[in-house]
Amino acid sequence: MIVDLHVHTNISSRCSSLTPEELVCRSREIGLDAVCVTEHSTFKGAQENYAYAKKHGFLVFRGMEVFTELGDMLVFGWEENVRYYLFPFDELKAEVEKRNGIIIPAHPCRGEADVRHRNSRDLQDELLEAIVAIETRNGSLSHMSNEFAEKLAKKHGLFGTGGSDAHHASHLGMCVTVFDDDISDEAELIEALKSGRYESCYFEELEKKRE
Ligand SMILES: [Zn+2]
Ligand SMILES: [Zn+2]
Repeated sequence: MIVDLHVHTNISSRCSSLTPEELVCRSREIGLDAVCVTEHSTFKGAQENYAYAKKHGFLVFRGMEVFTELGDMLVFGWEENVRYYLFPFDELKAEVEKRNGIIIPAHPCRGEADVRHRNSRDLQDELLEAIVAIETRNGSLSHMSNEFAEKLAKKHGLFGTGGSDAHHASHLGMCVTVFDDDISDEAELIEALKSGRYESCYFEELEKKRE
């Protein structure tokens, strides 16, 4: 099952031009099985896109992207609007744990391709205690930054997810997560993400994986 796990739409992300209509059309056109909408610090966009897609027979999962002092986090299973712009990571962890959700650091190596940051960054211990996966394929990052993320995942024995981080229709599906099993709702998505039965990849690598 091919899922773009990281998408912003114009419903709650002012930085995105992607409409719910385009999301459904474009996802179908390129052959995605589902998309996860992860707006910044609000659940509203995910909810509206979910409802629209459902009416049109397409599967949208509802997630969120939350800014914390340890970086941007993709959050699944916590369905609330975030109270502060920069949310304390320990509070986020507690809220998500209470709901049996999951936190996945988004683009953990953003800026890594910049020679000034190179090799200086690792995942903090506090973060490592709370996660089983990181985003290893992000459509808005350079290949080099994604490679760094992949290396970090291997080093710490973490699973890797993929998402486009799309803010525009043409960006959708650029990176995806390919799940071994079919998933029909967020509860199953969370279980699947915890299980590690998936791989991240660039869209252009999909044909190879399908063989
Ligand atoms: Zn981000
Ligand atoms: Zn994002």
